[in-house]
Amino acid sequence: MSSASFLEEAAAPLLEWFHHSARSLPWREGYDPYKILVSEFMLQQTQVETVLPYFARWMERYPDLASLARADEEDVEKLWEGLGYYSRCRRLLAAARAMVQEGLDNPPPSAEALLRYPGIGLYTAGAMASIAYNLPVPAVDGNVERVISRLLNLTERAGSPTLKHLAAERVLDMMPKEEARDFNQALMELGALVCLPKLPACPECPWGSLCLSRALGVQTQRPLARPRPAVEKVPAWGVLLFSDGACLLRRRPKEGLWAGLWELPWFPRRTGDAPAEIKAWVSEVGIECLSYRELGVVRFSFTSYRVTAWVVACETALSPAFREKERLGQWSLHAPNSLERLTLPAPSRKFLTLLN
Ligand code: SF4
Repeated sequence: MSSASFLEEAAAPLLEWFHHSARSLPWREGYDPYKILVSEFMLQQTQVETVLPYFARWMERYPDLASLARADEEDVEKLWEGLGYYSRCRRLLAAARAMVQEGLDNPPPSAEALLRYPGIGLYTAGAMASIAYNLPVPAVDGNVERVISRLLNLTERAGSPTLKHLAAERVLDMMPKEEARDFNQALMELGALVCLPKLPACPECPWGSLCLSRALGVQTQRPLARPRPAVEKVPAWGVLLFSDGACLLRRRPKEGLWAGLWELPWFPRRTGDAPAEIKAWVSEVGIECLSYRELGVVRFSFTSYRVTAWVVACETALSPAFREKERLGQWSLHAPNSLERLTLPAPSRKFLTLLN
């Protein structure tokens, strides 16, 4: 049952709830489009509490689109360090540069126009257009998908294109067109504060008496769970390579996890014979391992992998083949006390704690 009158009826209590329950957040002050842009990039897969200090530092350093467009990529990455998913900050920088190059001093007020920039997909374009400019465009993230699934008892899988499409249609049906900004934020806020994934606080919900899945007692089963990927355990070696007091860092590939960052290398452990495996691996890079010592074990996870890394420190001699890789920007040498200033992936930071 999702008739037009039901959907219209549902909008009013949600908006009323939002008007007295909305959190006071810095990007909501004045709804400056540039601040909304930055907050939307930072909030992707990240909690509001985590984002707040980063957002404050960012606005001090880059208060507007023009100052961000002029920024150095390494400085931007450094400011982002700890927020994770670094490709987001590179795309934010690329989007800001593209907008400024087109003569804009703010993100454009149109979802279609926003979609042309790096890092801006359907959700971010919808959130920008509605929150910054109050345009009637849906913005369906995981929270919105969940609250709409539950309100309307939709039986689609979480994250599926069908559910995203259905939820976007229903959001548009429900949205009072003059209140797109508050309506989309109210849906997100309800998902973040009340309609929680495992424990929805239904008695406190503005939709408590309307919610179709609650009436059937199936709210925690909506949306339907997505199939879980199998978790793979990966044993690995982590290596801190030194040459004449300098520490060697490897550049990660341009695409994928921790894309383009410098890192302390690690690679899969096969036999457990540290000297043989490490010597063989470093010689492929053009490095001779002169001596090594064990530092300890660290654990880290990414996507569906759980990595246990045995970390060793090696004194090395560098060959011309390595120097060529250094010239090509694949490897670099750094004074150990300069590593603090670099943006390093979380595993590298863990390796360094063993050294300290
Ligand atoms: S009544 Fe419960 S399940 Fe339904 S939208 Fe509200 S919090 Fe979510």
